[in-house]
Amino acid sequence: MPLYLHNTLTRQKEEFQPLDPGNVRMYVCGPTVYDYAHIGNARPAVVFDVLYRVLKALYPTVTYVRNFTDVDDKINAKAKATGEEIGTITARTTEAYLEDMGALGVLEPDVQPRATQHIAEMIAMIETLIEKGHAYAADGHVLFSVPSMPDYGQLSRRNRDELIAGARVEVAPYKKDAADFILWKPSEPDIPGWDSPWGRGRPGWHIECSAMRAKYLGETFDIHGGGLDLIFPHHENEIAQSRCASGTAFFARYWVHNGYLTVEDEKMSKSIGNIVTVRELRGDVPGEAIRYALLAGHYRQPLNWSSAHLREAKTALDRLYTAVRRGLSVDEDIAPADDVPFEVLAALEDDLNTPLAFAHLHELATTANKAKTDSQIVAATEKLLAAGRLLGLLGEDPESWFRWQPEGEQAGLSDAEIDALIEARRDARHAKDFAEADRIRALLTEAGIVLEDGPQGTSWKRG
Ligand code: ZN
Repeated sequence: MPLYLHNTLTRQKEEFQPLDPGNVRMYVCGPTVYDYAHIGNARPAVVFDVLYRVLKALYPTVTYVRNFTDVDDKINAKAKATGEEIGTITARTTEAYLEDMGALGVLEPDVQPRATQHIAEMIAMIETLIEKGHAYAADGHVLFSVPSMPDYGQLSRRNRDELIAGARVEVAPYKKDAADFILWKPSEPDIPGWDSPWGRGRPGWHIECSAMRAKYLGETFDIHGGGLDLIFPHHENEIAQSRCASGTAFFARYWVHNGYLTVEDEKMSKSIGNIVTVRELRGDVPGEAIRYALLAGHYRQPLNWSSAHLREAKTALDRLYTAVRRGLSVDEDIAPADDVPFEVLAALEDDLNTPLAFAHLHELATTANKAKTDSQIVAATEKLLAAGRLLGLLGEDPESWFRWQPEGEQAGLSDAEIDALIEARRDARHAKDFAEADRIRALLTEAGIVLEDGPQGTSWKRG
């Protein structure tokens, strides 16, 4: 079946038809790099990673661009507050972001442009907008003239009053219209700035994405993604700048947005103090469990993050890895099948229906668990692994999955301590000291270690 995606522009699920089936092009707004990624930042990265994997399964070439916003007032504020150099903050945070997303099984996009390396392209685009009468310079600033674009507002479908209220536009004497937005602004000497025809300054956030997208994907392309909160003003303004600069009737064909995320039923915010970073979560569970939890609901639905939800994800993956481990016990060289199981791909082709894909994944595990002959077990496990790979799951070795150890106080016994206890238990049994053997087993159970006595001796896992 063809791929269907919900398009925010039309508010409808539409069949995906690429402009060039030989090269499908997608842009997703990336992080502003000034702090560790929180779980709300991780959601779009994981959701669009699934879309990227599906596109790669369907088309010969996919060009996926996700930017780093490394010039922004939030970064400047952080530098002021901490005394750390701006370049140090952005480099460290960029690296941490990539590491965290890697732990969540997020493939690196084909191009990851940094805003500070594309200032010339931004200035050129602003100059074009001024030439075409869509922007004006005033008082060291350059502003986009919203009234110059008659069909402004198509994506967010806001009327003029809502536009002005929603933009939270500060009253500024240099603005000709309250809805006009900033393309360029002056920089004081102590914050980053670049020479421009309008003096030393820095770009507004919206123009960054427009300029980087234009350079790597062209004037028109297939899919633009991001979180729901970016529809207005960020994406609306990206459309305005890009279309007015290029003179094209459209910009991205399909606008795909993931839903909001709350934590324990509350909006995540610094003031409430309930920001959950990926870094913290990685100390509690393996990265794949975080990924599973992010994909367990449909991407367009709101997601309420909770520790119970995360535990369920870990348990669900334990079940899948149990099936994989059984397959590996029959054939240690088992690998994902070349073809993705039809029903899993079909679920994802239906606007990335990950809950349905997960249900099929568990059916495949059930089939693998029920398989009797070695060849049946191998075939079923290969299918399960192929489905897992499309979803970015089941990439770990089952033994290390089951022995994964949380950080800090919750870490419990180390691998060496567990091995030593198992050996002591074996010695006790040999000496027919069953009371001692039972005592050790109880101690391990208490510590959350599950023993599995088999023909080749005792193996263990963290439960
Ligand atoms: Zn953007």
